[in-house]
Amino acid sequence: MRQDCWIGGQWAPASSGRRFPVENPATEELLAEVADGDAPDVDAAVRAARACFESDAWRGLAARQRGQLLAKAAEILESRLVEFATLETRQNGKLFFESRIEIAMSADVLRYFAGWADKITGDTLPVSGNFFTYTLKEPVGVVGAITPWNFPLNLAVWKFAPALAAGCTVVSKPPSEAPLTILLFAEVLEAAGFPAGTFNVVPGGGRTAGAALVKHPGVDKISFTGSTEVGKGVMKDAADTVKRVTLELGGKSPNIVFADADIPAAIRGAQTGIFYSKGEVCAAGSRLLVERSVHDQVVGELAARAKKLVPGDPFDKNTRLGAVVSKRQQETVLGYVAKGKAEGAALVAGGNAATVNGKGWYVEATIFDGVSPAMTIAREEIFGPVLAVLTFEGVEEAVALGNQSMYGLAAGLWTKDIQKAHRVARALKAGTVWINTYNSYDPAAPFGGYKASGFGRDLGREALEGYLETKSVWVAL
Ligand code: NAD
Repeated sequence: MRQDCWIGGQWAPASSGRRFPVENPATEELLAEVADGDAPDVDAAVRAARACFESDAWRGLAARQRGQLLAKAAEILESRLVEFATLETRQNGKLFFESRIEIAMSADVLRYFAGWADKITGDTLPVSGNFFTYTLKEPVGVVGAITPWNFPLNLAVWKFAPALAAGCTVVSKPPSEAPLTILLFAEVLEAAGFPAGTFNVVPGGGRTAGAALVKHPGVDKISFTGSTEVGKGVMKDAADTVKRVTLELGGKSPNIVFADADIPAAIRGAQTGIFYSKGEVCAAGSRLLVERSVHDQVVGELAARAKKLVPGDPFDKNTRLGAVVSKRQQETVLGYVAKGKAEGAALVAGGNAATVNGKGWYVEATIFDGVSPAMTIAREEIFGPVLAVLTFEGVEEAVALGNQSMYGLAAGLWTKDIQKAHRVARALKAGTVWINTYNSYDPAAPFGGYKASGFGRDLGREALEGYLETKSVWVAL
């Protein structure tokens, strides 16, 4: 398969003529050769997005019509769910049923923001003096959306849907490991009836196409999801043109099991918290904090469960652990496993690379017990199926350990004590807190980080704000 850039409603090869390969990490087979976009292609896409933003074809649409286009896109995406989910699994290595959930949520997100399009309103303001003063909410303009490979379509739609609902136009820079579903999504928006230029895609490298998009003076806002390291650079690069920036960055989220929890439920929550989608989840519960008196039971049962998560073909419905996204990611994850061992943590499950039929980049479901907060595996985001277990005694220590991180993306806690649950939820410095659940998402619930996990929010009403400017209008009476 060859895939080009999607600019102004047309497919076009990169101006350099270069292409980059996209591989299936479960089989190592070549999936596609994709246009390797760079600054000239980004420039063409931004011009197309700008022209569309200023055009009657887009500006002239009533808010409700924008909503109808998004609802239509949701319907089309749902009708092609299996095709999209298949492509997602082939490029990412995640289980097919996980891809189905991801694509279904993408459709849900489109539908949710379809409903917002005609409910964006300003206020009338009680100012002093003889004036009528009100605010207008206006689309911020051309949005650059830069997104990662772990939920390739879904995390991108978290940006596209509110941006389009707000009346912005979009240039997407998809992840180079997994750009194919975003490219296919261009067909969905076109079929839904979005005018040419509302949505553009320039695949390519982060330091080339990505950086060109961040620096481009014709882009009004960058909405970025990715690592904290790259996010910091994006913020710096956006400064020269005073771009609006939203950053959804990494995490090292604590999942806290109190002794008074429903322990079987907490164990299941700990398992999905770290092993869902091979742990390549920004909000993965990668630090399991267990109260001392239930430690042996929780870790023993969790380790037994982890050993059953044998890596396998992601399309086989009996498989519970897919391939990590790339050889490079496998090396990174195994590097952390080696560090965990070297720093004295106790390996109680997994720890090895694996293949299926002699191929693929897999890592076993891995658990380290006896982890102390200073160890590398307790501090750094691994972004793979590796859990670090720490032990605590009492609420105060749980909260202190939970907050002992530069990140603040999410946290989980398990207890039957309702007062303790809410008290701890308030004390944790994280953008999402899950009580007696983990990895729950809904388009209506804002998602984003505290601290080095970024700022701004995807999803919910808050996400819309990121794509709007507020204008105060004064009328002398
Ligand atoms: P990454 O930071 O390496 O890349 C993210 C995107 O940025 C990619 O499209 C990449 O090509 C691009 N990029 C790289 N360098 C760039 C540059 N200099 N200028 C502009 N763009 C550039 O992240 P990744 O490895 O693709 O994804 C994993 C990371 O994403 C993890 O840290 C994870 O926690 C984070 N993540 C966060 C969330 C969230 O909502 N907070 C969700 C998913 C993933």
